[in-house]
Amino acid sequence: MAKMAVVAHGGAGPGPERQANLQVAVDVASKLLLSGASAVEAAVEACVILEDDPVFNAGTGGVFRIDGSVLLDASIQTSDGRLGFVIAMEETPNPIRVAADLLDQNINGLTGNGARSWADERGHLRRQVEGRPPIEEDGDTVGVIVRDSAGFMACATSTGGCSHRPPGRVGDVPLPGSGFWVNERMAVAATGEGEEITRALLSYRVGEMAESDSCPTLKHAMNWGLENLIPTKASVGLIAIGTEGPGEGQANTDMPWASWIED
Ligand code: ASP
Repeated sequence: MAKMAVVAHGGAGPGPERQANLQVAVDVASKLLLSGASAVEAAVEACVILEDDPVFNAGTGGVFRIDGSVLLDASIQTSDGRLGFVIAMEETPNPIRVAADLLDQNINGLTGNGARSWADERGHLRRQVEGRPPIEEDGDTVGVIVRDSAGFMACATSTGGCSHRPPGRVGDVPLPGSGFWVNERMAVAATGEGEEITRALLSYRVGEMAESDSCPTLKHAMNWGLENLIPTKASVGLIAIGTEGPGEGQANTDMPWASWIED
């Protein structure tokens, strides 16, 4: 039996005032875990809470692209080798549910109108997402990592994309290895300037570092990634969980993050 654990972030930029909002999602995930839910179920439901909270740049609070559209990305990966991601979905307040529905399909990812049609066929909520104007400060996108009692891990991330980006722009959130990476031993999620995160293949490389003999802790691996793989001008944050111990967060900004571990 593993100690169950949850860690969530609220984006690289917005600072401690989002802590309470994040705590709501962490509490939902921990309660679900305590009542027997799997890592996937808990991660998805916590992510939905954050997508439904308009202060975050994900789902309901997704920021406008430069043409005024609201296009949403989400991803989920599990430590038993499953993957689902969606890119640039319109009229989808909870893209993480569509991504999660891909976990057991023979395709990993869907984009744009194809993603929306597939979601329609499977009965996923279709509703106009009002969105909000781009933000000047660094991002407030969301991510959740959960470890359940069987030791399985799941990482769910969701975003409206960085501000001031065109429609069709693909950030790190739906790209495996960039915005997230999970294997049997650890799970990592990134947030912040997606272009820099993607160029660095940040989540994969931080995970690889965490597994190297020379790396004492997850925290060390995250700091190594932030210091060595990301230019100092870019705002980036990371959360991670291993097979034991609590989830951790590190950032080169004031990233809000919250965690829970079973007593
Ligand atoms: N990484 C996200 C993106 O580039 C945005 C964010 O984390 O704030 O789309």
